[in-house]
Amino acid sequence: MTLMIEYQDARTLVLSAAKALPAEPVPLAEALGRTLARNVRAREDIPPFTKATMDGYAVRAADTRRSGPEAVGEVELGVLEDLPAGRPSRRTVGPCQAIRIMTGAPLPDGADAVVMVEDTEAFGRSVRVRREVRPGDNIGLAGEDLRTNEVALERGTVIGPAETGVLAAAGMARVPVTRRPKLAVIATGDEIVEPGERKRRGQIRNSNGPALTAMAVEAGAAAAYLGIARDRKASLAGKLARGKGADILVLSGGVSVGDYDLVKDELQAAGVRPVFWQVRIKPGKPVFFGVRGRQLVFGLPGNPTSAMVAFLLFVRPAVETMLGRKVPGPAAGRAILAEDITLKPGRTQFLRGVLADSGPVLRVAAYGDQRSGVLRSMVRSRVLIVVPADVRHIEAGREVEIIFMDGR
Ligand code: AMP
Ligand code: MG
Repeated sequence: MTLMIEYQDARTLVLSAAKALPAEPVPLAEALGRTLARNVRAREDIPPFTKATMDGYAVRAADTRRSGPEAVGEVELGVLEDLPAGRPSRRTVGPCQAIRIMTGAPLPDGADAVVMVEDTEAFGRSVRVRREVRPGDNIGLAGEDLRTNEVALERGTVIGPAETGVLAAAGMARVPVTRRPKLAVIATGDEIVEPGERKRRGQIRNSNGPALTAMAVEAGAAAAYLGIARDRKASLAGKLARGKGADILVLSGGVSVGDYDLVKDELQAAGVRPVFWQVRIKPGKPVFFGVRGRQLVFGLPGNPTSAMVAFLLFVRPAVETMLGRKVPGPAAGRAILAEDITLKPGRTQFLRGVLADSGPVLRVAAYGDQRSGVLRSMVRSRVLIVVPADVRHIEAGREVEIIFMDGR
């Protein structure tokens, strides 16, 4: 086991241990938030035919050349038929002819433009055209969205509303997505009590169990919360056995150097091969990472903010890699620092940061209270400000790296 490694090295070790999971088909209506397991190609042109994008008259553009605002006379064309959306015409538009056409109807043979109905005047079986059109006006071309066989969506794409629309346009009733990683959460500690249970003096509420389970769901995992293991070998071993079928096992608490911090030893006794313990970061230093077969096992610190930050930095990218995301999160960016920061150097720090409400550039300030027990700081903060280990002071106005804590 590697002792006390740097953040980037720890992230690299986690990412290289995580493998993309296999594909499973889901109905399109259930694909939102899932990750595409394969490239999706258009099986035909989208749209499949050239069509009118306005209500009006399908014409040969050259026939309208004598009309226009300054034109003396209007052009008069013979109307062959009415064409609603939903079926092609069997007629061909010849010289000085037109077909009345509705938005979405296939452009008839012979026509190369549509004159908007607002620029016309119908009388009997003829129409007067008051404005010249050019070839291509008011029509949508076959394949202008996607060409046959063109990649519509790439493997690794998260399916949102727009992707859902593209999949539907491509005729996909079922979508190949990566299986969600099964992620089991175990809270540890003799002092923690579930919300809703009776709490005695010296006990505290279990916030990590619910918070980490929520983070797992938000990351795209199929999360199961396995309850609290007490700081005793038998209790831990029992929970670890229950977590055996999970792709990812996440424990909180018991990974420091205290007398009751049994997690590391018990994990190894349960067959987990340690990869690293302790990362030179703040908060989250005592984080443990190991593997058991294909299972990834994380021992996160018990402090609520440390546990959440460590989940974001290490567990979230593992989940996203298993989901087959190309660039596993959390999403990073840059912002302008709104207020000076002064720190004790030595570890890469992840300061909870508050984004300014508006403005042309992102501005961020460190949340006032960075103590790791203050969970409220996580509610107020949307980002983490990344401060390299050797930095003691950053002035307001400088650019800093940030990590977004919410979904992308
Ligand atoms: P530990 O890492 O087990 O030494 O815990 C560090 C601190 O986090 C202690 O103050 C614990 O009481 C607290 N803690 C541990 N687990 C939880 C939890 N599930 N929910 C809230 N606080 C916790
Ligand atoms: Mg503990």
